[in-house]
Amino acid sequence: MSIQRTLSIIKPDATRRNLTRVINEHLKRSGLKVVAQKRLLLTKAQAAKFYEVHAERPFFSELCEYMTSGQVVVQVLQAEDAVSLNRKVMGATNPEEAEAGSIRAEYALNITENSVHGSDSLENARIEIAFFFAEFELVV
Ligand code: ATP
Ligand code: MG
Repeated sequence: MSIQRTLSIIKPDATRRNLTRVINEHLKRSGLKVVAQKRLLLTKAQAAKFYEVHAERPFFSELCEYMTSGQVVVQVLQAEDAVSLNRKVMGATNPEEAEAGSIRAEYALNITENSVHGSDSLENARIEIAFFFAEFELVV
């Protein structure tokens, strides 16, 4: 185990319901430190690029529509074993299957509007952090 960084996104369903602060408190309580954060409105091109691994999936256009339907908060989380810790804190993709007490179990509306994103591997964390943040924004 080592100190890692992972990319998190608070998605439009959550920003729309003003859940940014409570989700950040949940992350902090779980040992994940927010070391960089900004609020953005993604373009269709940015959403499609970010989720390009899902381009052939039937839900891809719905996913891109949703991710551009409102503001997102993109953030870099830091902790011991941050990638897998954040996946656990988020809960399963489908909130009906998410572990009790996880962010998705508490706040997600459905499998698309599931409140948060988290990188699924250390390699993807590096790629996704570089997608949204310049080196000079990661000063902690
Ligand atoms: P994320 O990548 O957003 O952290 P995840 O890794 O848990 O979520 P993925 O399989 O990578 O899940 O799917 C990316 C996103 O696409 C999901 O978070 C969700 O918003 C949407 N999605 C996934 N599966 C479905 C589905 N079957 N129907 C509708 N939307 C889906
Ligand atoms: Mg994913």
